[in-house]
Amino acid sequence: MVVLCFCAVSKALFMVRLGEQTLRRGYARRLAENLLVRNVRDALISTGLRGRVSYKFTRIYVEVEEADREKAVEVLGRVFGISSFSPVVKVRFQSLEELAEKVAEVSAERVRGRSFAVRPRRAGYHNFTSLDIARVVGERLLKYGSRVDLKNPEVEVNVEVRGWDAYVFYEKLPGAGGLPIGVEPPVLALVSGGFDSAVAAWYTMRRGVPVHYVFFNLGGEPHFYGVLSVVKVLADRWSYGYNPKLYEVDFRDVVKMIRGVVSEPYWNIVLKRLMYRAAERVALKIGAEALVTGESIGQVSSQTVTALRVASAGVRLPIFRPLIGFDKVDIMKLSMKIGTYRYSEMIPEYCAIVPRAPVSRPSLEEVLEEERKLDLKLVDELAGDPAVYPLREVEVPRFEREALEVEEAPDGAVLVDIRSREDYDEWHPPNAIHIEDFRPRPNGKYVFYCTRGRSSKLVAAYYRWRGYEAYSLRGGVTKLKPFYGGEEGD
Ligand code: ATP
Ligand code: MG
Repeated sequence: MVVLCFCAVSKALFMVRLGEQTLRRGYARRLAENLLVRNVRDALISTGLRGRVSYKFTRIYVEVEEADREKAVEVLGRVFGISSFSPVVKVRFQSLEELAEKVAEVSAERVRGRSFAVRPRRAGYHNFTSLDIARVVGERLLKYGSRVDLKNPEVEVNVEVRGWDAYVFYEKLPGAGGLPIGVEPPVLALVSGGFDSAVAAWYTMRRGVPVHYVFFNLGGEPHFYGVLSVVKVLADRWSYGYNPKLYEVDFRDVVKMIRGVVSEPYWNIVLKRLMYRAAERVALKIGAEALVTGESIGQVSSQTVTALRVASAGVRLPIFRPLIGFDKVDIMKLSMKIGTYRYSEMIPEYCAIVPRAPVSRPSLEEVLEEERKLDLKLVDELAGDPAVYPLREVEVPRFEREALEVEEAPDGAVLVDIRSREDYDEWHPPNAIHIEDFRPRPNGKYVFYCTRGRSSKLVAAYYRWRGYEAYSLRGGVTKLKPFYGGEEGD
């Protein structure tokens, strides 16, 4: 009679295969392996799972409560450095016959009435070969399965023998790939909350790099809330093994200064140069060895090869641009997979500084000339004293889109226009106030609207966070105008 150990019944066991770190040798490899064990532990603990993580012969074994099996599958898929993993049943044996008997026992139901193949693998000293395992286990399983089919089996019975333990599994689940976070020194990613910068940060982390974030606030508190909800997804779901930080630098005065003295076609490129400059200061202060941005060649006029060259001139740290060759549609799809899409979607382009006709091929000399008109001390001072948020600890409440959006303003609600002052002056519903004149009252009820109803969701979410009854008007002005007898919106 075969007695399965109790643990196989009440616990779920996983075998985790390591990714590219297995290409490393000696110390570098041991370091990567230790970091992966640490990160897997962190992943379990921060998801509220209790489990045991151990490392043996190039594999990591993770044991959790049976009730947590599905959760564990989900979490292991988000730890970088794992190439694949499998739910396994462990059996101990002393002879090939005993191995066959035990494998048959655990696999009987799986193969019953179906074609199957035994896929053996073996490490250690034994008086039998892998082929022997396939043959003897296969014979035993024939009692249950319909037939052996090595080419196209309905069930694959993998038997990985390691010493006098064997791990039996039937499927390989894909891991997140890459390298364990911590094999590289930290870097600083510039994030605006948009789709691109979040995906760029993710790809950098995937190569084992602890990523911290810097955000230049151009849109005030709602913009901050929006960026926070995006990087919080990266911090909670993907950043196992370290505590990522968000550095916020208020750049609104810098924008004002640029608009005041720089000639309009250069606003954009000068702002970007100042962001890089400030980011470099923050990076040097925190020991980050490179900057990361979400740029890809030609996506917008400020991301042409020339614009990138001129923007980067003068920055001494390397600037990594993991998305350099990506199309926007692919970036959007990735952000869905990563989990940032629904938060990035709410971030409006903060266009406070988009010139009507940006310079198309900026020359470095001209740009430097424009830059000389500025007081760079202000930038350096701001960069020297950013606000710091340890992301794993910060609480960011989430609001479901359905709960935020309304089709029409509820009774007693005040309409608040969040578009530019010019747009507001051109047309707004009677009684609507402009966001700059908005002073929320404790029991007030507010409905925010913008052109189409996208960015107003973010503002509504922000004021909800702050404790107000706030909504976003679906469809924005496009919907309001016909209602009030104005022209059809754009
Ligand atoms: P994203 O989707 O990341 O917002 P984008 O396509 O809108 O990028 P740009 O606005 O040109 O492109 O910004 C290019 C990159 O510069 C961004 O990916 C980001 O790394 C950085 N960046 C832009 N705005 C900010 C900001 N306010 N704070 C920090 N970094 C920024
Ligand atoms: Mg952007």
